[in-house]
Amino acid sequence: MSIESRLENLKKEIQECCKNCGRDPKEVRLIAVSKTQPLEALREALMSGHRIFGENYVQEWLQKWEQLENAQPEWHFIGPLQTNKVRKLIGKVEMIHSLDRLSLLSEISRQAELHQIQQKVLIQVNVASEESKSGISEQELFPLVEATLKSPGVVLCGLMTMPPFVEEAEENRNHFRKLKNIFDEVRRKFFNNELRGSFSELSMGTSQDFQVAIEEGATLVRVGTQVFGPRE
Ligand SMILES: *Cc1c(COP(=O)(O)O)cnc(C)c1O
Repeated sequence: MSIESRLENLKKEIQECCKNCGRDPKEVRLIAVSKTQPLEALREALMSGHRIFGENYVQEWLQKWEQLENAQPEWHFIGPLQTNKVRKLIGKVEMIHSLDRLSLLSEISRQAELHQIQQKVLIQVNVASEESKSGISEQELFPLVEATLKSPGVVLCGLMTMPPFVEEAEENRNHFRKLKNIFDEVRRKFFNNELRGSFSELSMGTSQDFQVAIEEGATLVRVGTQVFGPRE
């Protein structure tokens, strides 16, 4: 199947899913995760009208960024991020989904100020409490939120999670629900419970479980394999 028809099917599925759980489809955006995929695959997606891409590896993404500069897609950086690579992203990506520590926050804010912009970020939370996964623990989240709100170079737009690989999508429902609860708590505590403020994004759900994530409140779903086929 072509990337164009995969995207079309996927967007229909997302709409259907929103309808079934009483959500407005405009609240849910699809990030096509293009890590390890060749430039041609991204071009095909762009040609079909899709503009939002997610990438994990700074060097690989930079090459794509250069090649696709004229098309100006909306880039989301979703992978673990080393502090010394931050300067390569600032001003070029719409949003960084993987803020998970103070040292990274300081560098993002510092670089953004140098560029005289405000970088949109999501804090990645390790809701499944897995040793091996990246993301900040629930216990450490509030201090990081506070620090983010005090950093002039960043805008905190929401939360992100990447739960474990599971056989059944249902197995991740608890993790998504947990992130939504934490999100609501942060909104109450730090954002006066604003419903339409800057703190409004929940980035969760991949090819294996985006429907469940949407049912639990996702506003950004990150789908790779179902758009581009299996990765090398
Ligand atoms: C690779 C990746 C995805 C996409 O996973 P698929 O199973 O290919 O849909 C989503 N989020 C993150 C953080 C990823 O690294």
